[in-house]
Amino acid sequence: MAQTGSQSIVAAPAAPKKGNLYDVTRIQLDKAAKALNLDPDVYTILSQPKNELIINFPVRMDDGRYILFKGYRVQHNNILGPYKGGIRYHEEVSLDELKGLAAAMTWKSALQDIPFGGGKGGIKFNPRLHSKSELERITRRYTHALGNNIGPELDVPAPDVGTTAQMMVWIMDTYMNFSGAGEKNAVRRVVTGKTVTSGGSYGREAATGQGLVTCVTEWARNRKFNLNGATFIVQGFGNVGSWAAKLLSKMGATLVGVGDYKGYLANPEGMNPHKLSEHVAHTGSVEGYKGARPISRDEFFALECDLFIPAALELEIDEKEARALKCKVLVEGANGPTYPAAEAILAERGIDLLPDILVNSGGVTVSYYEWLQNKRSERWELEEVETRLEKQMSRTYRQVCDVAEERKVDYRTAAYVIALERIAKAYAERGIFP
Ligand code: NAD
Repeated sequence: MAQTGSQSIVAAPAAPKKGNLYDVTRIQLDKAAKALNLDPDVYTILSQPKNELIINFPVRMDDGRYILFKGYRVQHNNILGPYKGGIRYHEEVSLDELKGLAAAMTWKSALQDIPFGGGKGGIKFNPRLHSKSELERITRRYTHALGNNIGPELDVPAPDVGTTAQMMVWIMDTYMNFSGAGEKNAVRRVVTGKTVTSGGSYGREAATGQGLVTCVTEWARNRKFNLNGATFIVQGFGNVGSWAAKLLSKMGATLVGVGDYKGYLANPEGMNPHKLSEHVAHTGSVEGYKGARPISRDEFFALECDLFIPAALELEIDEKEARALKCKVLVEGANGPTYPAAEAILAERGIDLLPDILVNSGGVTVSYYEWLQNKRSERWELEEVETRLEKQMSRTYRQVCDVAEERKVDYRTAAYVIALERIAKAYAERGIFP
């Protein structure tokens, strides 16, 4: 008999029970829609995704058994271009989580003014419990099950929690194998975040962290705050968290606290993010790193620091965490890390919040560069990618500040307002068929 994926679940240390990300996204949308006086018809369209796909597919394990996996792809909106968004491999993946994340992708692409819409997908399982060959078969079976529901001009996935450039290459290769022989090269851009060898872009791996650091730099300039000598803590030390830490340390900031799914660490003297990355590459977690002492989740949130960067999963910062935090600014590397109630507490306490759809949009921006390079059969130099990204992130950051100032709203609402204005304009021009 078939079994379902990931029988044993590794729980985060003393993590609180999560709420519903989609509900949180709706609260954020409602606030911005009110601030903007959004056309109610556009609001109606945006309040639900266009398509929600659920697939159950069997995969042969290394020992010959078949296990049944549940995969999803949510396509939120495509008025501005193909659906775009990551693929998540995690045991807590759910339809409502992906609906929230897919909507965030719609806002993010529109905010950055790139010709993409929003989507998100995933498989509900724990990738840490599977061998490389099982992960390859799971990824390929998932891609095959999605079939023509994805495509270079229809829906373009990318990496997210639990997925890597290697997995994106398996998606590309599988998709190529059910495309016509003459189209193989043209469909390369069915997915972004690939390895450079297989058509990825230089700079994509670091892009989300780099974009985050550009936002922090802009924030510091506005606040006349010196990042050289600043301290920061990071929750989640995967792609986003580790790159943010490495790039911030290059600017003279010190990592004094870190945590992931296995536990939390602190060292007031600082940790070396490069050595910590090597440790994580070898062991899969920050746990056991010699250059710091283990602390509890509660102690982590109460650490003295200038910047706090959530870069793990959504809904990690509730009222308790918001009261405990001792930072000057919360920089949302992760998608949807903060509950609305926590946001109100942070505002009362004078802690700035730089919102996810702005802060982590460097990833989708360089994904767009990768998609463009593939479309034109070009290869851009790393320097070109980094320069373009920095320019684009700084410009968008300043737009968000301007709108926040003009409308007297918080940064999140300002970012939503910019995105929703662009989407609403497209609907006003095009209407709906028939
Ligand atoms: P990743 O899989 O590379 O890393 C995730 C990290 O979070 C790991 O260190 C993991 O141990 C940690 N983690 C998982 N569960 C945890 C828990 N319960 N408590 C504490 N830590 C936990 O993922 P990533 O790509 O770095 O993504 C991190 C966040 O950034 C996600 O919210 C993702 O949606 C968002 N994001 C990623 C990108 C990208 O380009 N990868 C782009 C935009 C946004």
